[in-house]
Amino acid sequence: MALIKAEYIWIDGTKPDALLRSKTKIVEEGKALPDWSFDGSSTNQAEGHFSDCALKPVFVCPDPLRKEGDLLVLCEVYNADGTPHSTNTRRPLVELEEKHKHLEPWYGLEQEYTFMKDGWPYGFPPGSHPAVPQGPYYCGTGASYMFGRDIVEEHLEACLKAGLKISGINAEVMPGQWEFQIGPAGGAEVGDHVWMARYLLQRIAEKYGVDASFAAKPAKGDWNGAGCHTNFSTKPMREDGGYDLIIEACKKFGRPDRIEKHLQAYGMGRGLEERLTGKHETCSYKEYKYGVSDRGASIRIPLATQIEKKGYFEDRRPCANIDPYEVAHVILETVTLD
Ligand code: ADP
Ligand code: MN
Ligand code: MN
Ligand code: MN
Repeated sequence: MALIKAEYIWIDGTKPDALLRSKTKIVEEGKALPDWSFDGSSTNQAEGHFSDCALKPVFVCPDPLRKEGDLLVLCEVYNADGTPHSTNTRRPLVELEEKHKHLEPWYGLEQEYTFMKDGWPYGFPPGSHPAVPQGPYYCGTGASYMFGRDIVEEHLEACLKAGLKISGINAEVMPGQWEFQIGPAGGAEVGDHVWMARYLLQRIAEKYGVDASFAAKPAKGDWNGAGCHTNFSTKPMREDGGYDLIIEACKKFGRPDRIEKHLQAYGMGRGLEERLTGKHETCSYKEYKYGVSDRGASIRIPLATQIEKKGYFEDRRPCANIDPYEVAHVILETVTLD
């Protein structure tokens, strides 16, 4: 009987931005992974006098940080009575996706993040700002401009070993800022893979004594914030005639009540206002516009999509600290409105 380590991972109830929590269960290799429980009063998910919450495994992959056979187990959180916990945003998404299965929605998330050392962006001189302003850092090379590449490379390798749908990485506009892309994948799937990739990033960065921050505006002043551009398409959008459906979707996104709903999910009150000022790519959050190849718009339609008359579109507004399940939910909801 071989024993393996299963790392049970869940999303907690910390506000405004949830944290990832995890603990290890020793289980028999090849056996079904059981539900588990945890002390919800220590994760802002329950009161002390009634503190048990349940963990239900929903996505399992190899653990690239441990031994062959060990597993990472992403879980949904449930109340003791078996109902989904209020912080469980995955369950409503799974239900909505089930309803619109025939559309086969695909999402591609561009997760930006910033390494922080002792509470200050990694690569910034301690307590002050770099002498060289934004310019050479994006997709850059050289020790003067690149900070944390070893962590980034180790993370990419780990994501591939885990079987995550990671599709690329790049250095970003601010020093110490990077991006990985997950997708295309279904809504719950993209969320699972993004949360798992975040987990791996934070675990690997621990070894280097730095934090991977998903804050939307980690450095004040003339520095780009960190986003999570969300690319989206349905099967009909990817087929002939799809361009008209994309324009139709962009118009639905512009309905005032929908703008409000989207901004809530995209990080309103959690750095979105500081990030989307209109000064650093993407227009102000107070405006809504879509355009072909326009990186100053809320929604960008790639040039290739216009030329081929089918494809996908990119919502540039979501912040790095989004819950991908919430974002996938609000997008599918809007696209499927009458
Ligand atoms: P950008 O040019 O904005 O930096 P990236 O290359 O970083 O774009 O990210 C684009 C993302 O869009 C990738 O995750 C990719 O998998 C995803 N993507 C590509 N095609 C589609 C599609 N048809 N539907 C949804 N997402 C897609
Ligand atoms: Mn990108
Ligand atoms: Mn980017
Ligand atoms: Mn983008």
